[in-house]
Amino acid sequence: MKETFDVAIVGAGPAGVSAACILADAGIKTIVFERGEYPGAKNMSGGVVYGHDLAQIIPDYVDHKCPIERNIIESRIWYLSKEGGYSFGYRDSIFAAERKHNAFTVLRAKFDRWYAEQARKKGALIVPSTVAVDLLRNDKGGVVGVVTGREDGEVRAKVTLLADGINSPLAARAGFRVEPKPEEVALAVKEVIELPSEVIEQRFGVSNGDGVTIEILGEITGGMDGIATVYTNRNSLSLAIGANLADFATSKLRPYELLEAFKQHPLVVPLISGGQPREYIAHWLPEGGYDTIPALYGDGYLIAGDSAMMFNAMHREGSNLAMASGRMAAEAIIEAIGRGDCSRKGLANYGKRLAESYVLKDLKKYRRFGRFRYRHKEIFNEIPALASLAGREMLTVNGVSKKQKQKMIVKEVRRKMSILRIARLLWHSWRAVR
Ligand SMILES: Cc1cc2nc3c(=O)[nH]c(=O)nc-3n(C[C@H](O)[C@H](O)[C@H](O)COP(=O)(O)OP(=O)(O)OC[C@H]3O[C@@H](n4cnc5c(N)ncnc54)[C@H](O)[C@@H]3O)c2cc1C
Repeated sequence: MKETFDVAIVGAGPAGVSAACILADAGIKTIVFERGEYPGAKNMSGGVVYGHDLAQIIPDYVDHKCPIERNIIESRIWYLSKEGGYSFGYRDSIFAAERKHNAFTVLRAKFDRWYAEQARKKGALIVPSTVAVDLLRNDKGGVVGVVTGREDGEVRAKVTLLADGINSPLAARAGFRVEPKPEEVALAVKEVIELPSEVIEQRFGVSNGDGVTIEILGEITGGMDGIATVYTNRNSLSLAIGANLADFATSKLRPYELLEAFKQHPLVVPLISGGQPREYIAHWLPEGGYDTIPALYGDGYLIAGDSAMMFNAMHREGSNLAMASGRMAAEAIIEAIGRGDCSRKGLANYGKRLAESYVLKDLKKYRRFGRFRYRHKEIFNEIPALASLAGREMLTVNGVSKKQKQKMIVKEVRRKMSILRIARLLWHSWRAVR
């Protein structure tokens, strides 16, 4: 391709497309490369998107027919043992009224396609089925464009934005980020299970297109540091389960085995019964947190979203961090192009913007959270089993006094965990979230 662009973006996920929208709005000549057959083809199944960050880019996204599956009015947390578990939840009518679309579910194949179409309408050139295989460098090492897998596939640009997600080795190959260690990445599998809308509404106690998310911890990840989720879509449920890659390597458990066992759990069976599996996908998640974020910009390039390890594992937020970082990258690029300085110094406002925003503040707050979960495997082993024992015993009416039951539970806790271990767990958990 002989044409030159102001900005080349690698990846048409939430980070890349958010940047493309802002750049195209400002009249910046922008090209986006996407390796999938269409944006979203490599992301497929569902997840939660947050209205606040999307509205910063497309304020009237609902009027523009954003493919919203369900508006989330309730978040549940389950803590499960093998046979049972605890369920907590928070539902609020504010999320069906003033704060409607605070969070909503999407199917990524539809959402990413719709989002990229908004960028195209604004003037960005979206090029699917095209893999960026390398970066063009000048003799000082600065990035001056992208090498694609196409014939005659070099494209020159003043600035390149790497928004290629966690699964892409491009940033690592270019030396801009180190390959994440296995313990800094989670491997998740997801299945979409089709069910009639009215069945979903009845099972989750919702109506009018509202929905529920369930985040699940406990023994369901086979003792590994991991999490499972159930999200309601219009006519389907998105089920996901994942665990730390290093834990998968040592446990020899297979992701699809986890998913199958999860689907058999007594709390899950009634939700999915009668459903038809439709899609299955495996994907990585960046879980290393703040300490694994690479240098975010350099001469002629910036990195955003998952590619920059921006995932808040505590709150399961990634799409919003991708959108926010893509937007801030675009704003910094517009200023740099305006000043005619796309060097590292010229792009430095990206780092400043991110540091002042919730994106880096939140990641910094939870910087110890990933390590905490990885090191304290009792969260996924002994504690859910003991919690279940307590629940079972206290709910069983069998003539044994509650005092006696309490003594038995405490004895069992002391048998499984020393006081020192409990104290260490409490102290580390406080430090991980404070
Ligand atoms: C199982 C699972 C569940 C999740 N659930 C949620 C959730 O509920 N809420 C939430 O906020 N976040 C969730 N996330 C995280 C969220 O999906 C990511 O944080 C978000 O998609 C990151 O956006 P991104 O644009 O940085 O990267 P991506 O969405 O990964 O997009 C990167 C794009 O770049 C393309 N690409 C990669 N390499 C190249 C290349 N060399 N050339 C051309 N194109 C390339 C890819 O095909 C892809 O389309 C979940 C993730 C997983 C795995």
